[in-house]
Amino acid sequence: MTNSTKESLALQEQGAPLQFLDLGQQFEEIRREVLLAVTRVLETQRFILGPEVEQFEKEVANYVGCRFAVACASGTDALILALLTLGIGPGDEVITTPFTFVATAGAITRAGAVPVFVDIDPDTYNLNPANLEAAISSRTRAIIPVHLFGLVAEMEGIMDVARKHRISVIEDAAQAIGASYRGQNAGTIGCMGCFSFFPSKNLGGAGDGGLVTTNDAAFAERLALLRVHGSRRKYEYELLGMNSRLDALQAAILRVKLSYLEYWTEKRRRNAERYRSLLSQAQRRGNLVLPNEPHGTRHVYNQFTIRCEKRDALRAHLRRNVIPTEIYYPYPLHLQPAFRYLGYKEGSLPKAESLARSVLSLPVYPELNKEQQQAIAEQIDEFYPDAGNKEE
Ligand SMILES: *Cc1c(COP(=O)(O)O)cnc(C)c1O
Repeated sequence: MTNSTKESLALQEQGAPLQFLDLGQQFEEIRREVLLAVTRVLETQRFILGPEVEQFEKEVANYVGCRFAVACASGTDALILALLTLGIGPGDEVITTPFTFVATAGAITRAGAVPVFVDIDPDTYNLNPANLEAAISSRTRAIIPVHLFGLVAEMEGIMDVARKHRISVIEDAAQAIGASYRGQNAGTIGCMGCFSFFPSKNLGGAGDGGLVTTNDAAFAERLALLRVHGSRRKYEYELLGMNSRLDALQAAILRVKLSYLEYWTEKRRRNAERYRSLLSQAQRRGNLVLPNEPHGTRHVYNQFTIRCEKRDALRAHLRRNVIPTEIYYPYPLHLQPAFRYLGYKEGSLPKAESLARSVLSLPVYPELNKEQQQAIAEQIDEFYPDAGNKEE
C-alpha cells in the first residue's frame, strides 16, 4: 500500500467515509431552523401552495433578480409548464442539447413536441450556438439551453440566433441557481428560466420541487393557471393544465436553505479553486482537463466535472481508495432507447458522444474539506504516474 493510500484510508477512519454529496452534514448545520419551519407549517395545516409558497416565490424572484417566480412540483414540470405556456405542442420542434439530464428532452416530448439535438462545445459542456442555425426549421419554436453543472451556456450567441429566427429561449437552470453570465443571472436571460429543488441541486428540498422565473406578467399568470388544472376559480377551468404545485412544507424548508445559498455557493467555488491548484500538474501533463469558467461568468459548481484519460480505470482506482465519483452523463440522450424514434445514430453528435466517455465528476459539496480534496488529488496523481513521456 502506498503512503497516499494509507493517508486516504486514515482520513476515512477519522469519521464517516467520504461521500459524493453529504447532505447530512448540511442538515446538522441548519437542524433547528428546519425543524422550526416544519413545525410552523404543521401548525397552520396549510399544505399546498398558500402563504409559505408565495413567500418563497418572492424570495427566489428577489435572489434571481426577476419579476415573477412560479413554484411547481419539480424541475421537470417547470420545463413542461414553460413549454405549455408558450403554447408549444404537437407539430413543433424544440432544439436542445443531448448532453444533459433526461428531463430536458423528456419535457419537450411530454409537451407533444419533437426534441432536436444539437452538438455541444466540449470546453463548456453546453450547447454550441454555432450549431444552431443548421438545426432550425419552419417548425422550430424554441431553444432550451441547459446551464450544465452550474455554468451558464453561451447565451449571447444563442439569443442572437433566437431573435433572428423569432423563436423563444427557455433556460434549463436546474443546476445553476445563483450562476451568472456577463452581468445577467441564470434564469433571467431567456423568456423563462426553469429551476429544480431536487435534493442534490445547489438549493435542494426534502423531496421534489421546481420553479419557473420570468419577467413577463402574462407568462407568470399562465404558469400559475396551468399548475392548478387551468383553474382560476374553483371548478371553473379556462385551460387544460396539470397538478403541479409546491408543498408548503417544501417551501418552508427551502426558505431556510435559500438564506444559506450564497454561503454554500461560495464554499463550492472555493473547493473548485482548490481542485484547480491541486490538479494543475495533471492538467499540464495532459491527463485531464479541468472545467472551464469563461471570463465574465460565475460558475456555481453543482458538479465539478473533469475530462480525463482512461476514465473508467481512474474511477475504479478511486473507488478502491474509498473516493466516490459519478458520471454525468454516461450516455448522450440521442442514443438512449427512449429517443430512438428520433432516428439519431452513433456518430451523429460526436462531441457529446466523446464527452460521455471521458467525463468524471468529483465531490465538490460545500462541506468537503481541504484534507479530503488533497487525498483525492493525490490518488489522481498516483493513478497517472509521472506521465513524463506523454505530451508537449
Ligand atoms: C435535475 C434536472 C432537471 C429535472 O429536475 P427534477 O426536479 O428532478 O424534475 C432538469 N434538467 C436538468 C439539467 C437537471 O439537472
